[in-house]
Amino acid sequence: MTQHSPNGIFQDAIKRLDRAAEFAEIDAEALEKLRYPKAILQVSIPVRMDDGRLRVFQGYRVRHDDTRGPTKGGIRFHPNVHLGEVEALAFWMTCKCAVTGIPFGGGKGGVIVDPKELSRMELERLSRGFIEQIADFIGPETDIPAPDVYTNAMIMGWMMDEFSKIRRQRTPAVITGKPIPLGGSLGRDDATGRGAYYCIKELERLKDWEPSKMRVAVQGFGNAGQHVARLLHADGYRIVAMSDSRGGVFRADGLDVPRAIQLKNQGRAVGAVYGTRSVCECPKCGGEDCNCSRDDTATGEVFSNEALLELDVDILIPAALEDQITVENAAQVRAPVVVEVANGPTTSEADQILAGKGTLVVPDILANAGGVTVSYFEWAQNRAGYYWTEDDVHQRLQRIMAQEFNTIYQFAAEKQIDMRTATYAHALDRIGEAIESQGTSRYFANSIEHSEIRQN
Ligand code: GLU
Repeated sequence: MTQHSPNGIFQDAIKRLDRAAEFAEIDAEALEKLRYPKAILQVSIPVRMDDGRLRVFQGYRVRHDDTRGPTKGGIRFHPNVHLGEVEALAFWMTCKCAVTGIPFGGGKGGVIVDPKELSRMELERLSRGFIEQIADFIGPETDIPAPDVYTNAMIMGWMMDEFSKIRRQRTPAVITGKPIPLGGSLGRDDATGRGAYYCIKELERLKDWEPSKMRVAVQGFGNAGQHVARLLHADGYRIVAMSDSRGGVFRADGLDVPRAIQLKNQGRAVGAVYGTRSVCECPKCGGEDCNCSRDDTATGEVFSNEALLELDVDILIPAALEDQITVENAAQVRAPVVVEVANGPTTSEADQILAGKGTLVVPDILANAGGVTVSYFEWAQNRAGYYWTEDDVHQRLQRIMAQEFNTIYQFAAEKQIDMRTATYAHALDRIGEAIESQGTSRYFANSIEHSEIRQN
């Protein structure tokens, strides 16, 4: 599979601006501003390991644009993290927050580490150490982290605690996705998957889908993939394939998703962060000691993550990492609908191939915006000191996702453009409006207008 060069992924990400700008109300200067991250911080994090040795990890925090509000975005722990990736992820956050209209700009963080190799105490020291290094860069009014790939609520709790110690002031609003007893929001845990599910429900309504006839493949069984699979399965959709970093399972008449979730999470003792179980342990439900009979599993098969993308299904949901659908495999993608729950799973070249075939792609910055939207709810609850019910969270999220989805869907139909271009155009309208409110050359370079304003 083609991987981007270190900075290539950011360059590829911003390519989408030009096409979208043709359909947006945005000044050229405002667009230019979005081509550069506002600020980049690179840090070294020394961590004392359990065996007494010192290891130094590298981390980044990027603030892309804060015109619409404090920058917002997750922190990922992954061995392949690099600066270009974090810049791209921060850019996508700027666009994502604008898509749903929440008052944030975009940011992102990452640490180069394979967290599965760390003990729980090493993981805590690394998480606290990262916050110590970036404490001056973040804050409830400047930049607000959250979970991302291989980070979770417990890690957010440690990070909030560390920040509060440094500031000598309890500061829950500095980070979202925290455990509920530490100021987390109900409904944050499944919000990314749920937001994508609400988009699919809108498509179901518009296209008159019969859920039991819809075959779905989900790549990635982390926080986002698990929940979107669970919610769709509960509504009768047939989840015929799912995968995790170790591979995938396929079963034509549908997998037992709740059982797979249970088994996958069993590998984690209470309080542990990473499981050792994989969905490929059983081709019916995903677990090896699952008691499925031989007959049950006979129709199932174990296969690779790459093969999952090319399955003959009705909906494909990439919910793992970026750069999965590339120029090399895009032509083989058979699903007529792709709902991007991961960030950046499709490269810009692959995108053109999909658009050419008429594939309906619900782009990442819309499909996975549920997570950051409920992060906004969490931040608002922390600042108000008043906490909402889970129903409140679900209703407000549903309202925002359905409204933005339909606006974009109609705009795409009206202009005869793909959903991604329409989504970026929608985001650019909102970002452009904010940047232009601060003044562009139309305001500053026009001396006549300028003197008129002074006279007033
Ligand atoms: N990491 C998530 C994302 O990529 C959530 C970010 C947040 O909640 O700030 O959208």
